[in-house]
Amino acid sequence: MNVQTPQRIALVTGGSRGIGAAIARRLARDGFAVGINYASSAAQADALAEEIRLAGGRAVAVRADVSAADDVRAMFGQVEAELGRVDVLVNSAGILEIKPLAETSDDLFERTFAINTRGTFNTLREAAARLADGGAIVNVSSTTVALNLPGYAVYIASKAAVESLTQVFAKELRGRRITVNAVAPGPVATELFMKGKSPELIEHYAKMPPLERLGQPDDISGVVSFLAGPDAGWVNGQVLRANGGLA
Ligand code: NAP
Repeated sequence: MNVQTPQRIALVTGGSRGIGAAIARRLARDGFAVGINYASSAAQADALAEEIRLAGGRAVAVRADVSAADDVRAMFGQVEAELGRVDVLVNSAGILEIKPLAETSDDLFERTFAINTRGTFNTLREAAARLADGGAIVNVSSTTVALNLPGYAVYIASKAAVESLTQVFAKELRGRRITVNAVAPGPVATELFMKGKSPELIEHYAKMPPLERLGQPDDISGVVSFLAGPDAGWVNGQVLRANGGLA
């Protein structure tokens, strides 16, 4: 007998552009209905949702600044109302501004932690009550945590905190059959990485991993698809570096 299983629902923060958009596209292809979160890129998020719907999937674009707890609560509410209870949460929203620690302004410190760290905290706290049992959470960290690159102190600190949240939250969700993992990409060819870098510097980063190229968003979306799917059901509380062997 062919018993139809209900469609699973994924919510991807920072789904309007870059890695998050590739993740939303991939999860839709995997059969998920997808909530595509954005902060300001409404046109891109709407276009991606439309692309998924035209391909026969279900998707909705949801505006929320992940650094604001009220926005995050409303975002879950909207996705639940329009798609259903969330099974998979992916935290991809993030910012990077490279600055030596001594030159980092209060504002840059606050913004980086507000979006990268508090943003992840806000969605995790909400997910504790809202995620369906048997679900999965994937946080996006960064391989820079392993590299300790000069100029990246505040960004790395914000992502190290994300890895800690990942590992503790995996334990706190005991009994819910929810896995919590992180993927830590190396350099990926998106606006966040390319912005302000000379072609020579980009080439330098591209040559760093033994696989001698930049990552592409789909290098990361495939890993997230694995961590969100049934084959990773026994992987929990881990940080998976996806970086071509860089570190
Ligand atoms: P990106 O192309 O700049 O995209 C960033 C995304 O985050 C956009 O969708 C943006 O949405 C969203 N966002 C920013 N602030 C937000 C906020 N306050 N609330 C909700 N969404 C917000 O960057 P990316 O390269 O795809 O980066 C995605 C994640 O991967 C980040 O966490 C980044 O730290 C991490 N990462 C990237 C690399 C890399 O080399 N690219 C390497 C390691 C880790 P709007 O445009 O709507 O604001």
